Amino acid sequence: MNESKIWLSSPHMGGTEQEYVNEAFDTNWIAPLGPNVTGFENDLSAYLNDKPVAALSSGTAALHLALLQCGVGHGDEVICQSFTFSASANPIAYLGATPVFVDSEPTTWNISPKYLEEAIIDRIEKGKKPKAIVAVHLYGMPYLVDEIHTIANEYEIPIVEDSAEALGSTYKGEKCGTFGKYGILSFNGNKIITTSGGGALVCPSDEKKAKTVFLATQARDEAPHYQHSHIGYNYRLSNISAGIGRGQMEVLDTHIELRRSMHTFYRNLFKNINGITVFSEPNSDFYSNHWLSAIIVNPEETGGVTREDIRLAFAKANIESRPLWKPMHIQPIFKNCAFYGENIAFNLFKNGLCLPSGSNLTFDDRQRIEKVIFALL
Ligand SMILES: *Cc1c(COP(=O)(O)O)cnc(C)c1O
Repeated sequence: MNESKIWLSSPHMGGTEQEYVNEAFDTNWIAPLGPNVTGFENDLSAYLNDKPVAALSSGTAALHLALLQCGVGHGDEVICQSFTFSASANPIAYLGATPVFVDSEPTTWNISPKYLEEAIIDRIEKGKKPKAIVAVHLYGMPYLVDEIHTIANEYEIPIVEDSAEALGSTYKGEKCGTFGKYGILSFNGNKIITTSGGGALVCPSDEKKAKTVFLATQARDEAPHYQHSHIGYNYRLSNISAGIGRGQMEVLDTHIELRRSMHTFYRNLFKNINGITVFSEPNSDFYSNHWLSAIIVNPEETGGVTREDIRLAFAKANIESRPLWKPMHIQPIFKNCAFYGENIAFNLFKNGLCLPSGSNLTFDDRQRIEKVIFALL
């Protein structure tokens, strides 16, 4: 194979990242914290309707500290969207709590209002009111914000909004990450912007941000010596990583435009091909950053061509594609957890495929992708 690999989603630097990193070197701010961390937090906060933001070492760490501050502890139950990446659910287990999984609805592929309410009612009847709800904007698509938050408010359960894949997406003109009691962001290498590794917690108040930073820096009480009255964590973002983040914030909106243009490319590519549906916004209330473009394949309409046929044809041409998330309720580690729903998420997993979606894909890359599809369908 002599053609270079086309990735699903790879880091894409804008140009100024290195200047911020060099500045950290020049001023010897290599230690954690420092001016880039504050600068990056301010940039994120300005982008997210001025909500206080704490920069952390990962999106997973942000979820952990969000759930902790929602009061989740040993023996509790937390509702979690089943159709997601395992990092949405793992922090529930870190706290000694048990996830209760809920199916998706077909328009946004995210948590179903119907099964969410069914789960809440049933868990309360069984004697335990869920302590929090983890709702996810998967692949950048906002979940049904109004419906889900109405239910959560009615039962007074806080929402932890997993916006790891949805920085820059909006619902009714408001940015994802600002709807929940807490919002979480990720800057992992494959996300829409990256700090090579990192995350952030969008907080409801300055006090909660201060508490988050306190917990993330080993929970040091105010004293000249090391004094602790809480269990702490080492979850703060480094000043070097935050420097990359500051540069990436300058190109975030361009990255969104480029990802959305990849989505338009796929819409056009599959327009006249039977049996392939490109995942798109249900109506104009939803604006997705289209972090990943995804398709559903119906073999009965494609003349027998399946999701796997397409994935393998891409692999042969050195092009990465990947089945949609395998739902948590059928993962070996979570198979004994309660699940409310039917088989919406399961069928998405069975027939769905994520396609190369990076903001750095070239005209030639698109032509190679097109060639594989036209040879197959
Ligand atoms: C990436 C991701 C996370 C975790 O973020 P990390 O920074 O990798 O820890 C959580 N939830 C979802 C939906 C993600 O895609």
